[in-house]
Amino acid sequence: MSDQYAIGTPGTPWGDSEKSEWLQQQTKQRSYERDVVDVIESLKKHFDVTQYGTLDYAQFGFEDYPLYVVKTRNWQKGRPVVLVTGGVHGYETSGVHGALRFLQAKAAEYERYFNVVVAPCISPWGYETINRWNPKTIDPNRSFKEQSGVPETAQLMAYIANLNEPVLAHIDLHETTDTDNSEFRPALAARDGVIHDNWDIPDGFYLVGNSVNPEIAFQQAVLDSVATVTHIADADQHGCLIGEPIAERGLIFYKAQEYGLCMGFTNARYVTTTEVYPDSEQATPEECILAQVAAVTGGFDYVARAL
Ligand SMILES: [Zn+2]
Repeated sequence: MSDQYAIGTPGTPWGDSEKSEWLQQQTKQRSYERDVVDVIESLKKHFDVTQYGTLDYAQFGFEDYPLYVVKTRNWQKGRPVVLVTGGVHGYETSGVHGALRFLQAKAAEYERYFNVVVAPCISPWGYETINRWNPKTIDPNRSFKEQSGVPETAQLMAYIANLNEPVLAHIDLHETTDTDNSEFRPALAARDGVIHDNWDIPDGFYLVGNSVNPEIAFQQAVLDSVATVTHIADADQHGCLIGEPIAERGLIFYKAQEYGLCMGFTNARYVTTTEVYPDSEQATPEECILAQVAAVTGGFDYVARAL
């Protein structure tokens, strides 16, 4: 089989030795400190910055990564809380930089409607090593469940729970990349000792909503806003995006809570997951960042009108 993964035996799930073999192959390729923490530092003039946790990854030969949320300063009890999350999958670059850009360029405009909280980079180790998993071969975006014990997710969930205010809207920023098919899905199949049917990577932006809470008009408002920046993905010949039948153009639904997806953990009324396609010949890295920002503003504008 041509797409056999380099680690493990086909049909046999990985044990500890295969997982540590995988970890040994991972290297730092970019700097969380310089690309993310320095930008967060520069935001302190206008926003409140809180460290909500740490990833203790010096034990694996990397670093201990501080985890930050950025909040609008004029936080008022009783005003709706809205949340933006980026870098749940650290390799998905525009999710991290889209969250930071939203803070730099737009977040202050929403202060009069909402208490805004942004977690720009939930998986800094994944950001630095360009990975979907954490060092223990765990996908954080399947781990937003109570008592998951996954440090990327558990610490954020605890922090948001301790705000002790309901979250009205949550937009989780992601990408679907060509490396999903060339690296990350083959790695997942190898880890679990199974075979995956590959699907075509959609060329364009799409959304994954929560099937138990669709809020179609909200999703459409996000898509309309993004369409002013970049193209929306068409369904494949089966009427699907990543194997899932579309509900509308550029929109599919997953069961967020059942799968442990980030968008499900707050039980917010308005939730969605953005999927930018950074490998498109029609989109630059800057356009991908702007598409993420447009998704957030399109969604929050809709929610503000609905207040
Ligand atoms: Zn993702």
